Parts: sequence; structure tokens; C-alpha cells
Amino acid sequence: MEDLKGKVALITGARRGMGRTHVLALAKKGVKVIVTDIDLADCQKVADEIKSQGGQALALKLDVSKKTDVEQVVKKIVEQFGRLDILINNAGIAQFKPFLQLTEEEWDRTLDINLKGQFFCSQAAALVMKEKGGGVIVNISSVAMGQQGIGFPNIAHYCASKGGIVALTEALAVELAPFKIRVNAIAPGMIETPMIEPVKKDPKTLEGLLARVPLHRIGKPEEVSELVLFLASDSSSYMTGSTVVIDGGWLAG
Ligand code: NAD
Repeated sequence: MEDLKGKVALITGARRGMGRTHVLALAKKGVKVIVTDIDLADCQKVADEIKSQGGQALALKLDVSKKTDVEQVVKKIVEQFGRLDILINNAGIAQFKPFLQLTEEEWDRTLDINLKGQFFCSQAAALVMKEKGGGVIVNISSVAMGQQGIGFPNIAHYCASKGGIVALTEALAVELAPFKIRVNAIAPGMIETPMIEPVKKDPKTLEGLLARVPLHRIGKPEEVSELVLFLASDSSSYMTGSTVVIDGGWLAG
């Protein structure tokens, strides 16, 4: 993965959880990382951690559901670094609520952040990548993406957004290939981050979920970051339009 050295990467939702481990992993490979999220102070802490380890990082506030925010951040990146090589569309929210009680506002909020945010970020980044001769986009979906014959209760809007990401990934892979931009997605299973706290608080639900995972454990964020590195680098140079599942065997079980 030597090719990653000196590249410029924008990671969304990077103040904590998997976004944080993705930026740390990329920075270790010599990537200049732009740490973005809704809370600037948290992003700055992550950027400082990277700098203290000798890496290069810039913290910026970015709400992915706001088109003007996205455009301003990409503009700043181009002004400061002159290019943008890698986009990791990681930002996301998961609200657990029965479908019959779901409101229009809740549906819109999830779709705006999880799916529309990836549209805004991918379009703004791809315009720069096209200009500069290519790039890589990695979209974070989920095992709750549908199409596998497994339904997930109480997160209908989340599932719809994650399924949309798979479709978006395939469409962009085809459309952006002529500009040497590769687009792939990752579908993680249950990973140890603040997002699964509500599940962990309920031991019965947790045990029920783990019973469906052949490796019988929750995944570590760093294990997903390894896949991010692979998809962001030339190691995956013949891959585009793929959704790679990383779930301890959940969907195979
Ligand atoms: P997390 O909650 O720790 O991280 C999500 C991040 O997104 C947070 O830092 C949050 O502040 C940020 N975010 C929320 N709204 C935002 C917005 N409008 N603009 C920008 N950033 C925003 O959870 P995580 O597990 O690290 O989630 C990372 C990604 O992985 C998400 O897309 C999530 O859906 C996906 N995922 C997680 C799991 C899991 O089990 N943890 C499984 C499958 C997929």
C-alpha cells in the first residue's frame, strides 16, 4: 500500500467510532487526512493525535446533510492541498424505532445524513478527482442493506438508506470509471462503536444477535479500517462497484 503515501483523504463522521480508526490507519500509511464531523473540537482532538504521531491532519466541521457545508469543505481542501484523492463516506446515524411509529421527520433525517450526504460528498469530491486525473471513493453501507434475505426490525429507515448506498455505489462506479475514479462500498456487521450502545445495553438482544454471527463476537473498528486501506489503495485497483461484507460470517450464517 505504498501508493497511499502523500495522498489526500477526506473522511466524514471521523470524530469517533470507525471514522476515527479509518483516519488513524490512513495517516499511518502517510495519507494527509481531513478529519470531519459535526463537532469540530472532537475532530481537532483526533487531528492532534495524528500530528503527535508525526502524521498530517486537518480538522474541519462538516454536516454531510448540508450541501453548502460539503462544497465549502472540498473547496478548502483544494485550496490547502491542491487535490483530493480519497473520500471515505463514513458519517451515519442509526435510530432504533418500530416502523409503525416512525415519523416523516425521522425518516428524512436518516436518509438525509446516511444517503443524501454520500450524494453531496461524492459529487463534490468526484468533480475534483475528475479534474486531477482520478481518485477513490469508499461508501460505508451495512449488513442491513437488504438483498440478502435477512430483514432487520426497528430500523426500516436505516435499512433503506444503507440499501440506497449499495445502488448508489454501483451507479457511480459505472459513471465515474471513465474518469479513473473507483467507487466501492463496505457492509460491516456489528462493530464495537458508540452506535451499538443501545444494543449492548440489552443483553438478551445482544446474545440473540451474536448467536447469528458464526465468529460469535463483535468486530473491532480497526478490522474494518484494514478493509478501508485495501479499497483506498492500488491493492484493489481492479475493483469498482463492489460491496464488501465484513461481518464475522453473519450474512453467510
Ligand atoms: P458512530 O456513531 O461512532 O459514528 C458515526 C459518526 O457520524 C459520528 O461521529 C457522528 O457524529 C457522525 N455524524 C452523525 N451525523 C452526521 C452529520 N450530519 N454529518 C457528519 N457526521 C455526522 O458509529 P460508527 O459505528 O462508527 O458508524 C460509522 C459508519 O458505520 C456509519 O455509517 C454506520 O451506519 C456504519 N455501520 C456501523 C455499524 C456498527 O455496528 N457500528 C455496522 C454497520 C455499519
